[in-house]
Amino acid sequence: MRYSQLLLPTTKEVPAEAEVISHQLLLRGGFIRKLAAGIYTFLPLGLRVLRKVEAIVREEMDRAGAQEILMPMVQPGDLWMESGRWQQYGPELLRFRDRGDRDCCLSPTAEEVVTDLARRELRSYRQLPANLYHIQTKYRDEMRPRFGLMRCREFIMKDAYSFDADDAGASVSYEKMRVAYNRVFTRFGLDYRMVEADSGSIGGSYSHEFMVLADAGEDTLALCRDCDWAANVEKAAVAPPEAASGEAPAELTRVATPGKKKVESVAEFLGVTPQKIIKTMIFRADEGFAAALVRGDREVETVKLKNLLGATEVEGLSEDEVWAGLRLPVGSIGPVGLEGREDIRIVADSEVMAMVNAVAGANEQGFHYTGVNPGRDFSPHATGDLRRIAPGDPCPRCGGEVYFREGIEVGHIFKLGTKYSEAMNACFQDAEGQLKPFIMGCYGIGVSRILAACIEQNHDDNGIIFPLPLAPFQAILLNLGLEDETLCAAADSLYAALQDAGIEVLYDDRDERPGAKFKDADLLGIPFRLTVGKTFAKEGKVELRDRKSGETAALPPEEAVAEVKRRIAAGLAL
Ligand code: ATP
Ligand code: MG
Repeated sequence: MRYSQLLLPTTKEVPAEAEVISHQLLLRGGFIRKLAAGIYTFLPLGLRVLRKVEAIVREEMDRAGAQEILMPMVQPGDLWMESGRWQQYGPELLRFRDRGDRDCCLSPTAEEVVTDLARRELRSYRQLPANLYHIQTKYRDEMRPRFGLMRCREFIMKDAYSFDADDAGASVSYEKMRVAYNRVFTRFGLDYRMVEADSGSIGGSYSHEFMVLADAGEDTLALCRDCDWAANVEKAAVAPPEAASGEAPAELTRVATPGKKKVESVAEFLGVTPQKIIKTMIFRADEGFAAALVRGDREVETVKLKNLLGATEVEGLSEDEVWAGLRLPVGSIGPVGLEGREDIRIVADSEVMAMVNAVAGANEQGFHYTGVNPGRDFSPHATGDLRRIAPGDPCPRCGGEVYFREGIEVGHIFKLGTKYSEAMNACFQDAEGQLKPFIMGCYGIGVSRILAACIEQNHDDNGIIFPLPLAPFQAILLNLGLEDETLCAAADSLYAALQDAGIEVLYDDRDERPGAKFKDADLLGIPFRLTVGKTFAKEGKVELRDRKSGETAALPPEEAVAEVKRRIAAGLAL
């Protein structure tokens, strides 16, 4: 491809609207252009990367036995009413009516459509297992589309759906996808982790996320230094609490704590450690309120709270909202005496239940109780794992040390069970002629988000550093001698030789200064740069430079082609 003929509008300026580096570089490199909030056009270079991602995903899905189909983007509302998600999904689902006044929506995912297909076409156990996938545009009316391709409203996803006759089969299907996903992300050349994940609103019982490690990630991962345990902190189970101390229970005593609201200041005032304090946090949980209890030095994990309550939505509240809704003073709230109230559900972390002679708010401004003993002085409606895991905690698998990293979610696999097949009456006939609901799984990859994740992880001050498998071109050839016939002839013939060798090459034949060409080559992040310039005029050699290591070598043109070819073969081998 000749640069002079390509729509490749690079810019020097950092676009003001772009907060994260991937967004900046995708715009500056002329990969994408914004049409509206969270809606982008892919320019030729962006599309080339997208196609690379898709090709690897497709190969690995096919290798794992999944079949590619293409489902529509406009979906009938009726199917969503059958599954119950028309009510549940909320404003991310873009709904509209067609001219016949029928409810429709734009596909944010395709469980309903694929389950409808399965109930019509997969009638017998003999047709199972089946795994159907497509790579297609999704629309989610995200509240805050941001970070360029990271959180869009319109984006491209690969979604696969497996149908099995029984649980054992469903586990095999899930396992095949787990292996396929690991191959996909390894082949991309990205540093990623597979982590235990919460099943979220799609429901189901078992799931893993695939996370590209990068500081700009919106997810926090808990990892173990000693074993390969890894989990999204939302999901990360904490090791069971230590046994209760042998301390004798003291009397419940109301004490004044004037002006002391924060755990640390109450602890200091009363001469105890934060570990002695029961922290009570108020949340709105669906229509009601919840008081979540954790030890003073811990944080509440809202996803765990949501799951313990069986709630759809859980939201933290401000001091004013708590007062307005419950007439409780933030800073002095505690579980003692709260049980009688019908408008609050009390949920305690297991660790709290093991506390002896604790301190907790007395539900009166400036007062706390000492000598609080769970079970004796209050009984929660539910107890369980409620606290957020922290760095330094013991690994729940091996006891090793937990540390945190930020990650970008690029893939998610779920065991769905019969959630959709039962709701939508999607059944097959088993060997005995009985009708049974399919056991399903679903498996997503954020195809367009991978461009952002790849760049977040692979860049330097000068621009992108594409891993070879995702690079829009494998090599860029700079002709620095446009005025000089010998150099032009050499560059042209090197261009032809690279193409003949099957190398994807971008030929920078523009009438630009060398400095501008070098800058653009770095910005675009193409792995190998070949330069025809002064060294060719003097010694008949071209310069080969590796974008990642910065290593250069001066080689005769034929040798340069052979060297690039060799490095590409090594870099793509898997
Ligand atoms: P998130 O927690 O980031 O909102 P999700 O749990 O809603 O993701 P899934 O429904 O599992 O995502 O979708 C599968 C994949 O699609 C995700 O792993 C992610 O890579 C990608 N994805 C989801 N939402 C977006 C978005 N708004 N923009 C770009 N990619 C997205
Ligand atoms: Mg989402």
